[in-house]
Amino acid sequence: MSKLNPKTTHYEFNGWPGALVISLGLPVFTVFLNQLIRPDYYIKGFFSNFELQEVFNGLHSWEYYLVDRRDLWVYYLTWYGVLAIVDTVLPGKVMEGVELRDKTKLKYKINGVALSTVFVLVIAMRWKLTDGQMPELQFLYENHVDICVITILFSFALSTYCYVVSFVPLLFNRPNGVGTNEKVLALGGNSGNVIYDWFIGRELNPRLGPLDLKLYSELRPGMLLWLMINLSCLHHQYLKTGKLNDALVLVNLMQGFYIFDGVLNEEGLLTMMDIATDGFGFMLAFGDLTLVPFTYSLQARYLSVSPVELGNARLACILSLMALGFYIFRSANKQKSDFRQGKLPHMKSIQTKRGTKLLADGWWAKSQHINYFGDWLISWSWCLPTWFQTPLTYYYPIYFAALLLHRQTRDEEKCREKYGESWVEYEKQVPYKIIPYVY
Ligand code: NDP
Repeated sequence: MSKLNPKTTHYEFNGWPGALVISLGLPVFTVFLNQLIRPDYYIKGFFSNFELQEVFNGLHSWEYYLVDRRDLWVYYLTWYGVLAIVDTVLPGKVMEGVELRDKTKLKYKINGVALSTVFVLVIAMRWKLTDGQMPELQFLYENHVDICVITILFSFALSTYCYVVSFVPLLFNRPNGVGTNEKVLALGGNSGNVIYDWFIGRELNPRLGPLDLKLYSELRPGMLLWLMINLSCLHHQYLKTGKLNDALVLVNLMQGFYIFDGVLNEEGLLTMMDIATDGFGFMLAFGDLTLVPFTYSLQARYLSVSPVELGNARLACILSLMALGFYIFRSANKQKSDFRQGKLPHMKSIQTKRGTKLLADGWWAKSQHINYFGDWLISWSWCLPTWFQTPLTYYYPIYFAALLLHRQTRDEEKCREKYGESWVEYEKQVPYKIIPYVY
């Protein structure tokens, strides 16, 4: 067995059966959620008008998606492909990622500022050229669920491609850092089981020429499609009524701010679990390309079919909640990063045997993942503009709580293994995991 790529022995999601259930169940669930918010039918209250027949209305056979609607594929592949070309061509600062197991470091081009500028300019130009009609936004709004299905099929295809090429030895960048032709695989995605490895992602950093498929998919086509869907809802409402509704504008502004913040601060991602340790399989591809754009935009979709007038007082309260969450999220992440760079030597910390220190002061004395708490507060602020029309629009904080809890458990396992006694001492000093005094 290869020393560079040891076999996976620890399984998540209950192994391959769990991976299979999630791979089939989550796409169906995503389509289901979107089918409940359509211009011709949407859920009211506690699902008082739920009709099973409506869940299937407008859905088609495989042939329809794979053969008949080539325009949907042209639309989505143009989106994914043109963004990839623009991302590759635009200049940016080159940064190194974390050290890999073969002792090499991959280079990443950080060009979020340039890309965001071009993106905003293109939108503004299209608005001017089409006299505000923006047919691409109308197409997106009208074919919302069909495009969602296309992104699911595309995620299946992309993760299958990544799985297959993970077996092809290095052709161009060979040899690797240990002098062989092997690709660096993800520690968690090398079990030998096809379904499990395809789901988790076998290769750590699949690349297509200069394009890092994982980083690109995580930050560009999904995040920006989420923004486009929100815009398509605003645009639809404007075309239909000639007015803009304050709740929908607020959702667009708050989520737009969060999206651009993610795209502009992309270098922070290089050390995150997704890029540093996870492979690129169906789990991430589907999460990035379908789940993010098509479930994070449910509030905007709902407001486009059932608007709410918030008024200044409610608007101010919701904005304050978003600001508080964002302040906690950003300042906690910055404090940890500054501390790690040696900029905050006066803060209380625990020396670990590995040489690094664990911060046990400031935000990091409040809870072990106080940054998650800030992020979670933000998620509530995005739902409140829909007011209390239906619990459906509150899906996001519930899903996000599950995601953050799973992430916290994985991180805790990793830190316990990595830091041993020092982590136990940290847990003693900082007993709460996410929400201070609660959990
Ligand atoms: P963290 O930023 O909390 O990073 C955890 C890592 O930081 C640990 O593995 C450890 O790494 C180090 N660490 C933990 N505690 C300390 C400490 N006290 N002092 C110093 N170092 C410490 O987690 P994530 O990478 O999961 O998340 C980053 C951000 O991204 C969060 O704000 C999260 O909310 C957000 N996020 C958003 C998502 C979304 O869909 N919107 C999804 C996932 C995350 P080591 O010691 O090895 O360096």
